[in-house]
Amino acid sequence: MSANIPYDMSITHAPDARGHFGIYGGRFAAETLMGPLKELEEAFAEAWQDPAFQQERMQLLQHYVGRATPLYHADRLSRENGGAQIWLKREDLTHTGAHKINNTIGQGLLARRMGKQRVIAETGAGQHGVATATVAAKFGMQCDVYMGREDVERQMPNVLRMRLLGANVIAVDSGTATLKDALNDALRDWVASCEDTFYIIGTVAGPHPYPLMVRQFHAVIGQEARAQMLEQAGRLPDVAVACVGGGSNAMGLLHPLRDDAVRLVAVEAAGHGLDGHAHAASLARGKAGILHGNLTYLLEDQDGQIQGTHSISAGLDYPGVGPELAAMLDAGELELEAATDDEALEAFRRLTACEGIIPALESSHALAAGMRIAAGMDSSQHVLINLSGRGDKDMNTVFKALGWLEQAS
Ligand SMILES: *Cc1c(COP(=O)(O)O)cnc(C)c1O
Repeated sequence: MSANIPYDMSITHAPDARGHFGIYGGRFAAETLMGPLKELEEAFAEAWQDPAFQQERMQLLQHYVGRATPLYHADRLSRENGGAQIWLKREDLTHTGAHKINNTIGQGLLARRMGKQRVIAETGAGQHGVATATVAAKFGMQCDVYMGREDVERQMPNVLRMRLLGANVIAVDSGTATLKDALNDALRDWVASCEDTFYIIGTVAGPHPYPLMVRQFHAVIGQEARAQMLEQAGRLPDVAVACVGGGSNAMGLLHPLRDDAVRLVAVEAAGHGLDGHAHAASLARGKAGILHGNLTYLLEDQDGQIQGTHSISAGLDYPGVGPELAAMLDAGELELEAATDDEALEAFRRLTACEGIIPALESSHALAAGMRIAAGMDSSQHVLINLSGRGDKDMNTVFKALGWLEQAS
């Protein structure tokens, strides 16, 4: 075990016995899944308290994923932006280039411990699919990834990457042929296959115990950042900021800081603006409803149908949000911000030009809001921003948005 990766087996702020965070969360699933979910809950609780499991997880996080990731003081960006010092937690430097692997390593280890030979996953942009296919290759497991046909066509490089890693990508044609339909089909597969199959969910959503389990696997982000702030800045940040799609990188960063005097900020994708429908701001504009096995804030139309979402960043384009974030918002534990496509693009360009770091478009939303908050603060104060992933995957989107690829679109 490495001295520089915090090793924390405690679980604070747990949901109630039925998986409720406040009124949110729970376990809304087919009768046939109740047994497997209970079995998963027990296996996770047992594994989490087992030093051998934690030791192997830490070894992999260190030597395979590349943790601890650096905490970087973006001094040039801070000066140019004005106001508070900006610190970046560099999840972009992990193996596969985003935070998602912290979770798939954890669930992959748990699948192996439970004797499952096959893993399945849902994916939108393909990032969680790639992170799952990566650990399936590493652990020698069969891997099937459900992906809406729309997304298969839009995200071909990730589809090919998953195939290269040995995964089978299943194109989903139902509904709008996007992420929510892939989620439904993955759950349907699991109903029929749970005997030998482990369902690796990609964010802090799904029926209990997934939101808790995924949070715990990502908490290493905030645990490291907390220790690194104390070491490098000599104090904790005044504000911690993360973007929210489903909420896994946000819970990973914010959960370990929630008992400190730190303002916790979640940033949603405002797309073309919060006043229309072309956004993905479930916390700001949604209402309570059930999706993907839990009660949470959802974007629905007047007929109660899941609303089409929009964001320039595919990873934030999800019509729901993790139930714990919904509860934290209601409890006043969380501040809510939003960044539009244009604001995210501007932040993307500024970090790239100013620090030589090309962020993911998802992370650029956190940057946009973080820089806005920092600008209103004092230079002796500190803003910690989760740089959840790197931007290589977004080159085409950015070049098109900048009009540099006119003929290609
Ligand atoms: C998937 C993804 C997100 C959004 O997912 P969360 O569960 O909200 O963290 C954010 N950033 C990157 C780089 C991603 O790949």
